[in-house]
Amino acid sequence: MTASLTPSADAAQPASAAKPPLEILLCAPRGFCAGVVRAIDVVERALAIYGPPVYVRHEIVHNKYVVESLKRKGAVFVRELDEVPDGQAPVIFSAHGVAKTVPANAVSRNLVTIDATCPLVTKVHREAEIHHKRGRHVLLVGHSGHPEVVGTMGQLPKGSITLVEDIDQIEALTPEDPDNLAWVTQTTLSVDDTRHIVAALKAKFPNITGPHKDDICYATTNRQEAVKQVAPLVDALIVVGSSNSSNSQRLREVAERVGVPITRLVNRAEEIDWDAFANIRKLGLTAGASAPEVLVEEIIDAFATRYDVTVDTVSTVIEDMSFPLPRELRSEAAE
Ligand code: SF4
Repeated sequence: MTASLTPSADAAQPASAAKPPLEILLCAPRGFCAGVVRAIDVVERALAIYGPPVYVRHEIVHNKYVVESLKRKGAVFVRELDEVPDGQAPVIFSAHGVAKTVPANAVSRNLVTIDATCPLVTKVHREAEIHHKRGRHVLLVGHSGHPEVVGTMGQLPKGSITLVEDIDQIEALTPEDPDNLAWVTQTTLSVDDTRHIVAALKAKFPNITGPHKDDICYATTNRQEAVKQVAPLVDALIVVGSSNSSNSQRLREVAERVGVPITRLVNRAEEIDWDAFANIRKLGLTAGASAPEVLVEEIIDAFATRYDVTVDTVSTVIEDMSFPLPRELRSEAAE
């Protein structure tokens, strides 16, 4: 796809001055993944069925724009269940998944719950459970404090799962039975970092069991691959996404490691520091899995007020993944 954008007004540029040319290379795939689409649909469908308010534990996905627009429709975001009043208003668990104590707590209070956990995160929960049932101690490769990691750690009893954040921690691991270990991973990690960590785990614990490759999801993998293709071709790369979005952070890191001189993670066009982009001729643009396309368009429009912009898409793979809604929200069940 090639589109030439020639906006009409430019407050920052005199009308007579010719705009410098800028080629924007749009990474594809980018933006919403199937798990994020499903999670947003869950909130919107719950609002339609139950009426507002519906409560959402944690940000449904890590994107301010998405959260604010759902708030305007009647979603109320809470950190913990104790902020949800007793009654029939449903509480939705976010795409990142929750520890087992959370639904148990909701049941004890007779709350109506809807689980928007991405099926690919649920898959990791099941893997961890199976390893535990088979008597293996589980090593979870992931980032401390991320809600997905909190949720996955919370699938197993305390002491039966250990978080591994980086290669340096592997040296210090002294499991009781080194021949009876398994590993799983967070879904939104750096593909390259994880490969090295898993190799180090296998080197130290040759009998460790794990998935065939890793648990990094298709969306994270594909978005990183598209950035790798575009990065060598550009002077700068912008990732549209929120700073608490793990997969968005990883995209910026991938570009930085390939050697792109200017890399930025921005929520909105208003966050762009224009001085940094003053002399570029080619810009890479992508979006994290929780960032809507409208924000990518906003960034392109903002550049088009300062540059004579041409947009080309660099596509590495076509995605056609989709996940069904939770059973209780499907039309036939809701009617
Ligand atoms: S980034 Fe991956 S794991 Fe997370 S919601 Fe999207 S598809 Fe699911």
